[in-house]
Amino acid sequence: MQRLKLAIQKKGRLSDESIKLINECDISFPSSTGKLVTSAYDFPIDILFLRDDDIPDYVQDGVADIGIVGENVLVESDKKVDEVLKMGFGKCRLSLAVPRNMEYKSVADLAGKSIATSYPKILQQFLDSKNIKADIHVISGSVEIAPGIGLADAICDIVSTGSTLLSNGLKEAEQIFQSEAILVKNKNLSTEKNDILNNLLFRLEAVKRAQKNKYILLNAPNESLDKIISLLPGINSPTVQAFAKEGWSSVHSVITEKDFWEKIQQLKEAGAEGILVMPIEKLIY
Ligand code: ATP
Ligand code: ZN
Repeated sequence: MQRLKLAIQKKGRLSDESIKLINECDISFPSSTGKLVTSAYDFPIDILFLRDDDIPDYVQDGVADIGIVGENVLVESDKKVDEVLKMGFGKCRLSLAVPRNMEYKSVADLAGKSIATSYPKILQQFLDSKNIKADIHVISGSVEIAPGIGLADAICDIVSTGSTLLSNGLKEAEQIFQSEAILVKNKNLSTEKNDILNNLLFRLEAVKRAQKNKYILLNAPNESLDKIISLLPGINSPTVQAFAKEGWSSVHSVITEKDFWEKIQQLKEAGAEGILVMPIEKLIY
């Protein structure tokens, strides 16, 4: 039987979350043996631990069948793979930043300037789309120090909180690309490998959906039941059971995490009591 080869980042910002998500799909493998490849015990996948920059290449060439990589790295690599699923973690943005004391009104201010970056392709596309000509200096790390040491007038780099920029005397001028981790696949997977992938996707989606929802259980006085039920719409209409205590019912439902606190407040105001909220492990529609 064939096994699907999944590439993930060996060590870095995407490693822990990638492993966590695979484990939550009830797929387990020996942890950190230091090996490049390891086999899952209970699912037909082998896991390859790679540098993130190598993942698009390996998936394109079929060394790996699928991989989890940042969209920033994928787009910059220009490799031909299929995008399968956004993973919901590893979120960051690629931004242009300039010295704090530079007066910056628009991208036009960067015309003729030199910009240091590790993302020349994404930056060039952005500049072209704005019809701006600038000098791109490719450097592979510590891009943020370039203006300080006179290597460039501006930079284009990954920003999450902006504190690295600040400590290097820079300010964010323009967001040019939003990124998150993404699952990609080789363009020519065998039918058998595609079946394994679909199986994995089914699990991944159930886990991701579960993370966005909570199971809620509450006691409602019967006279407020209609109001409370109207506050709990969504995928499943709530389950209502008569309660041992006269005049009360027990209500179960699934609510999304998004407007969770607001919902709880409204339910309480409508008369709900003993509100119990629990995480969901898997959610399948
Ligand atoms: P490798 O050794 O595998 O080449 P790396 O140093 O290039 O690792 P990391 O810094 O671990 O890469 O980042 C991996 C990915 O995590 C980035 O390409 C990006 O998609 C994502 N990411 C999320 N938040 C951030 C952040 N604050 N800074 C940098 N990358 C981030
Ligand atoms: Zn890298």
